[in-house]
Amino acid sequence: MRLEALLADITTLEVDAIVNAANTSLLGGGGVDGAIHRAAGPKLLEACRKLHGCPTGQVKATPGFRLPAKFVFHAVGPVWSDGTQDEDVLLASCYRRSLKLAFEHECASIAFPAISTGVYHFPLERAANIAVRTVREALAATPAASLEKVVFCCFNTQAETIYQALLNSL
Ligand code: ADP
Repeated sequence: MRLEALLADITTLEVDAIVNAANTSLLGGGGVDGAIHRAAGPKLLEACRKLHGCPTGQVKATPGFRLPAKFVFHAVGPVWSDGTQDEDVLLASCYRRSLKLAFEHECASIAFPAISTGVYHFPLERAANIAVRTVREALAATPAASLEKVVFCCFNTQAETIYQALLNSL
């Protein structure tokens, strides 16, 4: 089992599933969501329309269409307020539920962006800690799972440094 931090555009990754940092409408947005929709093509929006939105902390799956990834797991992260609005729990839920979908779809590899750390303003270091801890716990609880690789896809060197330090301290 490998956990790795990678500096990359998540839309280019050849993994079974990529996770999208979506919003509750699931009808597209900016940031990583916009990049995923552009790369996947218009069929992704068509598929998302049929899902009728998604509550915060939950995740819904679609095919990857033109992406190298077979699946997109659309996770709705919390908007950061002040840390007292269940932000940590809701963010952890995104990671846990994405991994559950990966197990259900028998994925061997999955890549996560740093959910909520863009326009949703979740503090990056706090979010990365939650991401790595939640993934480790979920994998430990599911020893028979098909997953061989979990990628934390970083979009800048600051994020890469933070994730790398967390993974090195395991
Ligand atoms: P949110 O609304 O959940 O904050 P954003 O898309 O604004 O979502 O940002 C989430 C994270 O995704 C940020 O850390 C941002 O730097 C990163 N990001 C943006 N575009 C990409 C991309 N193409 N690949 C990977 N990560 C990306």
